[in-house]
Amino acid sequence: MFSIYYIECPECQSTYVGKTTDLYNREKKHRQNTFNTDGDPYKRKVYTHFRDCNLERKQIVCQVLVENLEDEEAVLIEREYIRNIGDLNMLSGVMSDPNYPTHNKLEPGRRYEKKNRVERLRKQREKYRVRHPKIKSSTII
Ligand SMILES: [Zn+2]
Repeated sequence: MFSIYYIECPECQSTYVGKTTDLYNREKKHRQNTFNTDGDPYKRKVYTHFRDCNLERKQIVCQVLVENLEDEEAVLIEREYIRNIGDLNMLSGVMSDPNYPTHNKLEPGRRYEKKNRVERLRKQREKYRVRHPKIKSSTII
C-alpha cells in the first residue's frame, strides 16, 4: 500500500510531495540523493534546493499526508497534492518541453502560498473526502 508524503524545507517552507510503499527507506534515499554528488538525482530541483537552503540530512523528513492507498488512487492523489503544494516537484513533461519554466507551471493565483499551509492542507483533505469517497477508509492526517 502507498503513502503520500511531503518534505517541507525548514528554511523557506517550500514543499516536495511524493509517494512510496516504504517511508523509512524513501526518506533515507532522499537524504542520499541530496548529498551524493555521483548520483543522477543530485541535480534535481528538490535536492539542489535542499543544498541551497543548507539543510542537514536530519532536516530532510518525510511526513505522511495520506496512507493505505492502492496504486491508482495514490497516483491521482499525489498529483493533486503536487499541483497544490509541490513547489519543489518537477511536473511530468517538464524535461521534454523546452519552453517549460524551471519552476512549476502554476498560474499566478495558484502559486504555492507558504503561509497558512496547514489550513490549506486541511481544506484540501476535505475536498478529497468528497471527491474520492473510496479513500474514506484511509488514514488522512
Ligand atoms: Zn528552502
